[in-house]
Amino acid sequence: MSRPDTTQWRDMMSYLKDHHGTICRQWFEELEPVRMDAGLLEIQTSTGVQQNYLQKRCLDPFIEAAQAVTGNLVGVRFVSEPTTPKPPAASNGHAPTMPPPTPRPGHPGREFDDDQMVLSPDYSFDNFISGPNNRLAAAAAAAVAEQPGTAYNPLFIHGGVGLGKTHLLQAICQKILEVHPDHKILYVSCDAFMNQFIECVRSGKMSEFRHRYRHVDMLVIDDIHCLTQKDRSQEELFHTFNELYQNNRQIVLSSDAAPAEIPQLEERLVSRFSWGLVAHVGPPCFETRAAILKAKAQMRGMVVPDEVIDHIAQRIDTNARELEGAVLKLQGLSTLNKQPIDMDLAREVLGEQAAPRTNQVTLQHIIDAVTVFYNVKLSDLQSRRRHKSVTEPRQVCMFLAREHTRFSLEEIGGYFGGRDHTTVMHSIKTVKQRCEDDAQYGSQVRQLNDQIARQ
Ligand code: ADP
Ligand code: MG
Repeated sequence: MSRPDTTQWRDMMSYLKDHHGTICRQWFEELEPVRMDAGLLEIQTSTGVQQNYLQKRCLDPFIEAAQAVTGNLVGVRFVSEPTTPKPPAASNGHAPTMPPPTPRPGHPGREFDDDQMVLSPDYSFDNFISGPNNRLAAAAAAAVAEQPGTAYNPLFIHGGVGLGKTHLLQAICQKILEVHPDHKILYVSCDAFMNQFIECVRSGKMSEFRHRYRHVDMLVIDDIHCLTQKDRSQEELFHTFNELYQNNRQIVLSSDAAPAEIPQLEERLVSRFSWGLVAHVGPPCFETRAAILKAKAQMRGMVVPDEVIDHIAQRIDTNARELEGAVLKLQGLSTLNKQPIDMDLAREVLGEQAAPRTNQVTLQHIIDAVTVFYNVKLSDLQSRRRHKSVTEPRQVCMFLAREHTRFSLEEIGGYFGGRDHTTVMHSIKTVKQRCEDDAQYGSQVRQLNDQIARQ
């Protein structure tokens, strides 16, 4: 047995960054290689949630990194406690975070352990951005985590896809486990609940099913709207609910619709789901979107300029999952092209054309052309003077600015001597009218127009 080499550990971490950048997180810095024994590298994590997550989601990349760096056939195991083995805490049985390394025969419901949802350390309250769209749901979730079984029971969170329902459910689980590692939490998807039910009915193991679902401190079911078939699973859930509720056990549910709007949900379940608090999550506003982008980038250790954050937050206004997708693409492209994250990369991610560098007409192009043609100075155009020799080129400038740039009427008016938008509108109308009435004037304006367009 030996302690792992620290240089090799550092090399492993850079290997992961280079080859599996998308799995890397800031909190990987807390990981510590504690033992190398008979070709098995043990890596210590700070929490049980981290341990379970890494073991279930990231094992293969870590093994690949260990083998690439050492050149040997190495296995990897994540541990969450000091390596001197302690007697296993028997009460951990149901916690989704720390499955004991060896199966304990006869433990009820063991065969379903793989159906437990894996908690992701990403989905914590610290990483959740609260805004006007989700403030109630976030506050209720925090209250439930603080006082499970008493604050709001059940807590029912509903809203569209990618708006943070699963994130909040997992944050509740993690917060409770931080304070009470022995809390028995059963966190499943609705599909898993239904499949297990059907399987237990088929194999005559209903008593195991009931033991599993009714002897927990908290039951969390994600996407409960999937419970749409009026069959015995609804009845089973009804009885499960009653038993847990009567024993002050916390129930947390998420759904894409409010209880009364879930098709085919039995009336008695609709009513029970509404007993506690029903909280809605809606689409994030601009500020929340920008904050989510920042948080997601920071979690991955990425440096993203503010203008890139703003640009993406302006263009992706649907949900947080799409925002996270954009961050992932940024990271992927930046690694692939060995390119820093900048506006060009952001445009590529968003499928936009890179900013045209040469042929974008600016106000300056217009002013240059018009002042030369009419032989006036910019200061004249920006002055309050109303002599025809100045008003005519000024009007043409306003007309061309409107045609070729994205400035608003207010902005154009402001630039040409602090005029208001009605003046700009009037000028544009005048130019258009005169182009029709006066052939020579029309051809001059067209000539200027073509000259500017060729920039
Ligand atoms: P849902 O379950 O509502 O479909 P998720 O909880 O899976 O959505 O969220 C999708 C992604 O968006 C996740 O990565 C999640 O962390 C992120 N997300 C959603 N809302 C927020 C938020 N308010 N703050 C930070 N991340 C968020
Ligand atoms: Mg979800």
